[in-house]
Amino acid sequence: MIKNLRRKVKMMVKTDEKLIVKGKRADGRKLLEFRPIKMETDVVNRADGSAQVSFGNTRAIAAVYGPRRLFPRFMQESDTGILRCRYNMAPFSVDERKRPGRSRRGTEISKVTRHAFEPAVFLEDFPKVTIDVFIEIIQADGSTRITGINATSVAMAAAGIPMRDLITACSVGKVDGELVLDLNGIEDNNSDADVSFAMMPNKGLITLLQMDGRLTKDEFMKLIEIAEKNCKKIYDMQREVLLKKYESGSEKK
Ligand code: ADP
Repeated sequence: MIKNLRRKVKMMVKTDEKLIVKGKRADGRKLLEFRPIKMETDVVNRADGSAQVSFGNTRAIAAVYGPRRLFPRFMQESDTGILRCRYNMAPFSVDERKRPGRSRRGTEISKVTRHAFEPAVFLEDFPKVTIDVFIEIIQADGSTRITGINATSVAMAAAGIPMRDLITACSVGKVDGELVLDLNGIEDNNSDADVSFAMMPNKGLITLLQMDGRLTKDEFMKLIEIAEKNCKKIYDMQREVLLKKYESGSEKK
């Protein structure tokens, strides 16, 4: 227990310095501004669909395999397919080497990622099969689950998995008393509150909502509004990168 606690304290980068001065954030952004976002498809040759997404210094690769028959057979569901997600933060993704292998945090993020996608995927059309998603965080600087979800969404579409809508995600929160969009690592570790949010933008359905910290009801409602509005911007980028892939006619690089 004490060992776990110590590890948690070590990974938290705490600062007493102000992170927001006169409406400007430490990295020069405005309060409701994303970090530079980059999206690319077909980054893993063997996958049926893959994508790399970066939000500033946070970078995730998602690789999707399937739909493929699930073995061992006793795990198959006769009336639906199943979705399996594995989120992993690479040991070299943070300043101080992260211990490789499974962690409670990784298990939790894998689970919430699966829950974020299950409402969107037509799993009932694929009995006895699995769709496997692997998310690797190769650089971590805040909002890694959000970056992983956005990469997964593009990778799923690139794999041709039938979905009701894309899933688009962003983080919002409260830092130094101000409401902000897209928290980076230091903001995340020093925030009054941070919220991870994912939705189906065309359906208007929220599929992930997680919060740490404290907010008033008004602040919370305002943050949801900010998240919804900005998810639409992410959606446009996802759509653009997918259109580019299909317009160029290259199924894979
Ligand atoms: P998210 O990355 O989805 O915001 P967390 O709130 O758990 O999830 O993590 C916030 C940030 O803390 C991460 O993006 C990463 O920059 C940092 N972090 C998380 N785990 C570790 C770790 N084991 N070692 C160092 N930094 C970490």
